[in-house]
Amino acid sequence: MALGGKAEIEAVIRIPNIEALADDELAEVAHMRDGRWSAQTRALLERFGTTKLDLNSGWASTWTLWSCPCCQREKLQIARISSGGVLLCRLEYHHDHIGDLAKRIFRERNPRSGERDINIQVSRAKDALMPLIERFESTQICIDCNLAEGRAKLELTGEIDANFTFAPSEIASFITVAENRTHEIDVEKARTAWLAAKDDFADRIDFATRMAQRIASGRHRREVAPGQRLLGPIQERDVVYRLFAAAVPPGYRHRLGALIEARSVCNDSAGQSLKPKRKAVVRPPTDSEFAAVEAAQGETKTWNHAGPDWLCPCCDRSKREICRKSNRGKWTARIHRVVEYVPEDDEESLARRRLDAASQIIIGSYRSVLICHDCRNVSAELQRRRAGLSEQSLTLDNLRELVEGAVPHSPHEIDFERAAAIAVANAPLMEAIDDFADHRTRAFEVLADIRQMTKIMGWSSRKAREIVGYEIAKAKGWELEEGDDHADWLLAEARRLLAIDEAKQ
Ligand SMILES: [Zn+2]
Ligand SMILES: [Zn+2]
Ligand SMILES: [Zn+2]
Repeated sequence: MALGGKAEIEAVIRIPNIEALADDELAEVAHMRDGRWSAQTRALLERFGTTKLDLNSGWASTWTLWSCPCCQREKLQIARISSGGVLLCRLEYHHDHIGDLAKRIFRERNPRSGERDINIQVSRAKDALMPLIERFESTQICIDCNLAEGRAKLELTGEIDANFTFAPSEIASFITVAENRTHEIDVEKARTAWLAAKDDFADRIDFATRMAQRIASGRHRREVAPGQRLLGPIQERDVVYRLFAAAVPPGYRHRLGALIEARSVCNDSAGQSLKPKRKAVVRPPTDSEFAAVEAAQGETKTWNHAGPDWLCPCCDRSKREICRKSNRGKWTARIHRVVEYVPEDDEESLARRRLDAASQIIIGSYRSVLICHDCRNVSAELQRRRAGLSEQSLTLDNLRELVEGAVPHSPHEIDFERAAAIAVANAPLMEAIDDFADHRTRAFEVLADIRQMTKIMGWSSRKAREIVGYEIAKAKGWELEEGDDHADWLLAEARRLLAIDEAKQ
């Protein structure tokens, strides 16, 4: 006899305590996923003779037999050991940067309007155009294919349009693949792929520009259906989830996904230990020479801010140890302020940000750090040597690794080939930084809208917030309540980010 419908049944489920589960129990719960708990990961660690693991959320969100659509390798063939002896299990998103360019073109020609329906229209039109502009849809690929793409673009800087991205099939055309190591790239083949795609690429930008223009001039308007989103016929899962939500104890937090992810990922690559300083080969400045260096700083804020006990966080040298004697015999030293980005760790923010994320890394904040002139010069020198890199291409952790064994009163000896390789491998971080900038823009736009509505139109902040929520829900095809929640979160984000900006000044 088939059960269900005719007679009432009782179903009892137990929600496990994720943090306390044994690895094999977690494997049951995290169906079709992967993590540091999987038998495969443990076998890989053993095979490569390490206990250090760098496993990201891309790897954790796919099953153990996942294979890269670009190089066709499976996870067992993708995992490899980093120069620091860490097992790398990383998958990245690969998306077409022509989309970022098209969105900029669109935004420039279609600034936010005071009219709600126009904003919804513009937002929908922009989303609808992406599949016609992008050369490939956002694809998850392995770390090495992503790396090969970045290296090819760097080799061809100046020839290739900066907004061009090689499609997975094009990457496949210029890599030589081997198991458990990075790909070799053939720059000639990469150039051929770019030349073959060049005209089509230009044509798509032309199309994006025309469409942005057409939308701006009021064409292609489509009425927005008022009211709630249609729910459609009710589904079994809607009913079951409501029953579940009603049955859990009050105060239960729906965070199984976040808990499982926290138990799945691992980041032993970050913050590797500092190598000891070497002995000075140059005579240190005398007390009076150091006093002259201090006096010469005058109003330099960074020097004073750093305080007397400051140590450069990258090379571990003190104010006195960073002093260097110029060719003309004058002692000098400088401390610079640089930005360090900090990953998001708030569960709600992570979940919401992933809706639009371009990278596996989600940045939630930033702070400024004071580093010495020699350390900052590593980034500056790298940019001079290799076009196509930015100040952010090396993180403080990277600098720490590169300047290891720093010597007092001497410039750093840097392997710039290695520095360039590290910088190229940071492409997902560059994506994440762009993404953070986009997030800030969206959050500040919402805050500005609400301020405008309350100050200029004289509406209550509640009404203003409802309008913003409606706009978000309609643009994204969500229920109105979801739009309101998202608007609340974005507003809180705007305030949080403003507070960080202000604290920095
Ligand atoms: Zn691959
Ligand atoms: Zn330093
Ligand atoms: Zn991007």
